[in-house]
Amino acid sequence: MRNRATLAGNIVNASPIGDLSIILLALRADLCLIKGNRRREMPISDFFKDYKKIDLEKGEIIETIEIPIPFPDSGFRYHFEKVSRRRYLDIASCNSAISIETDDRIIYDIHISAGGVAPIPLYLKETCAFLRSKEINRQNLEEALEITENEISPISDVRGSASYKTKLLINLIYAHFNHFFPALFPVESRKEKVTK
Ligand SMILES: Cc1cc2nc3c(=O)[nH]c(=O)nc-3n(C[C@H](O)[C@H](O)[C@H](O)COP(=O)(O)OP(=O)(O)OC[C@H]3O[C@@H](n4cnc5c(N)ncnc54)[C@H](O)[C@@H]3O)c2cc1C
Repeated sequence: MRNRATLAGNIVNASPIGDLSIILLALRADLCLIKGNRRREMPISDFFKDYKKIDLEKGEIIETIEIPIPFPDSGFRYHFEKVSRRRYLDIASCNSAISIETDDRIIYDIHISAGGVAPIPLYLKETCAFLRSKEINRQNLEEALEITENEISPISDVRGSASYKTKLLINLIYAHFNHFFPALFPVESRKEKVTK
C-alpha cells in the first residue's frame, strides 16, 4: 500500500530542498528506523549523508518521527521561509526553518536549517553554535550570517546562481529574525545592506 505526500517520503526522497526535511531539521526530529526486529534511532541531521545518499539500509523503513515538545515557559518559537520561482506549488530555490528558545534578550537554544544551498538538507551547525547564549542584536546576527556564508556550498542551477542562493538564504535567516523581533531587525535595514 502506498501513501502519498508523507513525511517519511519527503525525507527519504532526500531532496536538498525538501520542505518537510528542512522543517524537521529545525524541530530537532529523531527518526526511528526498523528492519525486521532491529530498531535504531538517529537525529534527522545524521540521516542525510551526501546528495541523495541517506543512512537507510535496503528493507529498512522509517517507522516513527519524533519531535520534542518544548516546555511551556521555554520561550519557544518556530518559523519557516521559502522562495520559489512560482509563488505556489513549486519546489524552493531556497528554504529555511528556525526554532529558537529565548526570553527576547538571550538566545538559550537555536536550530536553523537551510535547503538549496548544499548537497543535503543542511543543519547550520556552526551558525547555531555561534548564536547559542548570545544576546539578540544586529551585530551578533550579522556575524552569524558571515559564518553561514562559509557553512554552505550552493551550486548554480535552474533555480538560481550560487551567489543568488547565498544572498537568498542570508535574507531568509534575517527574515526569521524580522518575523520574531520586527523592531530589532527591520526590513529596511536589510535592504540597505543588500544594495550596498
Ligand atoms: C511537481 C512536483 C512538485 C514538488 N514540489 C515540492 C515542494 O514544493 N516541496 C517539497 O518538499 N517537495 C516537492 N516535491 C517532491 C515531492 O513532494 C516528494 O517527492 C514527496 O514529498 C515524496 O513524498 P511521498 O510520500 O509521495 O513519497 P513517495 O514518492 O511515495 O516515496 C519517496 C521515497 O521514499 C520511500 N519511502 C516512503 N515512505 C517511507 C518510509 N516510511 N520508510 C522508508 N522509505 C520510505 C519510498 O520508497 C520512495 O523511495 C515535488 C514533486 C513534484 C513531482
